[in-house]
Amino acid sequence: MNIAILGAGFCGVALAWNLLQHGYKVTVFDPNGIGGEASKIAAGLLHKYTGPHAKLNRLGIEGEAATLELLESAQKTTVEPIVLAKGIFRIGYTKEKREEYHYRAQLYSDCEWLEAANTSLLTHHTVNHPGLLINTGLTIDCIKYISGLWQACMRKGGVFIEEKIYSLDELRNFQAIGIATGAKLPPFKELGQIPIKPVKGQLLEFSWPDLPALPFSLNADAYLTMKVHTHTCIGGATFEKEFASSTPDTEIAKELLLPKLIKLFPPLAKAKILDCQAGLRASTLDHLPIIGHYGQNLFAITGMGSKGLLYHALYAKKLCGLMLDFLQARSFANK
Ligand SMILES: Cc1cc2nc3c(=O)[nH]c(=O)nc-3n(C[C@H](O)[C@H](O)[C@H](O)COP(=O)(O)OP(=O)(O)OC[C@H]3O[C@@H](n4cnc5c(N)ncnc54)[C@H](O)[C@@H]3O)c2cc1C
Repeated sequence: MNIAILGAGFCGVALAWNLLQHGYKVTVFDPNGIGGEASKIAAGLLHKYTGPHAKLNRLGIEGEAATLELLESAQKTTVEPIVLAKGIFRIGYTKEKREEYHYRAQLYSDCEWLEAANTSLLTHHTVNHPGLLINTGLTIDCIKYISGLWQACMRKGGVFIEEKIYSLDELRNFQAIGIATGAKLPPFKELGQIPIKPVKGQLLEFSWPDLPALPFSLNADAYLTMKVHTHTCIGGATFEKEFASSTPDTEIAKELLLPKLIKLFPPLAKAKILDCQAGLRASTLDHLPIIGHYGQNLFAITGMGSKGLLYHALYAKKLCGLMLDFLQARSFANK
């Protein structure tokens, strides 16, 4: 049985990996190479307490476990570390936030409360606020992760074709088709009703100021992740519901991000901006991803929003289950 997947971001590659474990032949198509669009530029934050109240996300435990399994498979293919940092610190600027985060620290065993003096000590006096340290939070090198997972797929026979697919006619030799094209769904009539909205996100890359490395990533109304090996850091992200173009716009990114980032990490005020990157998130009304069977042999996975790392592996596994049921029923009917 031959299966085609459109899109080689987190979702497409995770779906390929799952289907290959079951012995199917999988071909992934993407005009932009392995890595996806949003996935390639994602800041790499992975944790299950996103959202303003740092509450455990729905399916957060299951999502995190599924992603950790894929990270392990990807890491086996490369000696370079895929995890860039352990720990994500959510700063409590206001009394209300501090009370909320303090409560979360008591509730969740993988989280702890840091007083301002402790934060200051751990960050070499660059961050002087209290907050919630999510010890299980990780910062991932997204490009290394997807490349590593794709290496694991190739070892199982996965094939990649660097092409954009414009019509389902081009895929008539495949028994099932998985659409994993992120925020840009192809114009196939079967997919017309999938309720996703694109939200533009931009990131700024800075040269790292002449300071010791941070022990964890920082998160408040903006976030900061470090890339120790390149002496740079990434600050993000904008949430632009209205935008003229999906390409990077450094001036808008600076206007929306710089005040928040400097509040988060004051030494950034003097750091050099090296780059600006942009991507589109596929957002859904209930903030949960969407998977489904959309007629004939067409399946789709999308709607990862800003939690692609938390949810892609779990939902790819679920979608793989749906596709297997379909393929098995079809092969039974053909006997
Ligand atoms: C600025 C920013 C920062 C982010 N930071 C984080 C973060 O820290 N943590 C986190 O969990 N999430 C983060 N996200 C969200 C995350 O990036 C997405 O949820 C995730 O990447 C979505 O993955 P995907 O595979 O669905 O889509 P994508 O990565 O967008 O991949 C879709 C692929 O489909 C291909 N494609 C499209 N049409 C076709 C076609 N017709 N034929 C073949 N291929 C096609 C495209 O070329 C693309 O490569 C961030 C997003 C943005 C924008």
